Amino acid sequence: MNASLKSVQSTTDAERQARIDLAACYRLAAHFGLNEGIDNHLTLMVPGHADRFLLAPFGLHWSEVKASDFMVIGFDGKLLSGPGPVEDTALHIHLPVHRLGPRARCVLHTHMPYATALCMLENPRLEMAVQSALAFHDEIAYDPDYTGLAFDDGEGERLARAIGTKSVLMMAHHGVLVVAETVPVAFSRLYFLERACQAQVLALSTGRSLRLVPEAVVRTTAAQFTAGSKVGGRDRDDLLFAALKRMLDRSQADYAS
Ligand SMILES: [Zn+2]
Repeated sequence: MNASLKSVQSTTDAERQARIDLAACYRLAAHFGLNEGIDNHLTLMVPGHADRFLLAPFGLHWSEVKASDFMVIGFDGKLLSGPGPVEDTALHIHLPVHRLGPRARCVLHTHMPYATALCMLENPRLEMAVQSALAFHDEIAYDPDYTGLAFDDGEGERLARAIGTKSVLMMAHHGVLVVAETVPVAFSRLYFLERACQAQVLALSTGRSLRLVPEAVVRTTAAQFTAGSKVGGRDRDDLLFAALKRMLDRSQADYAS
């Protein structure tokens, strides 16, 4: 095989794997109840490209998305391949966030219940009151400026600026945006963010006050999360995602088709 042919082949393989991982992400988000109807989007840059991303056609339930379903959308908003239809807020939120954030290879936007519940509060902060929250110390930006449905690129550009260098944006009166360089890292953040928010909402539902972890312990524990990100030489997020994909392989293997 000559070099250029090999390059094309490996690009194709990389896109195939990206499609499988993104389809798994949709299925898993549905499995854990992070979806809302057929709304919201999970998107991923096409491997080897800096100007196009994968998006599921609007109308599919997240529990039925397959690797072969994805459309490719260019940064000019044009449908490059796939069936459509393209939903407007996917273009106006995801496209600018991908375009303006080189780290944002994977962009997940959901209205997942517990994180969204916090976004409704006067003080929406995820408090450093439970171990799972400490992993998000210094990782969350808060956008207090709800402006209605995202029907123009200006809103996505505003959100991209609001998230800045953080990996999570809590959007007032709306939901969350999670960005990462890979699908496993993005999904792991989405999942554990919802779990931490769930713990906080449940704790607040008792009517008692939260007891915060001392700041010095928060900083130490956040560093421990970073230092312990690999187990047996493999990234924890990759191990989690691989385990969850095996769960899908047993019960709904068509996600990879
Ligand atoms: Zn939304």
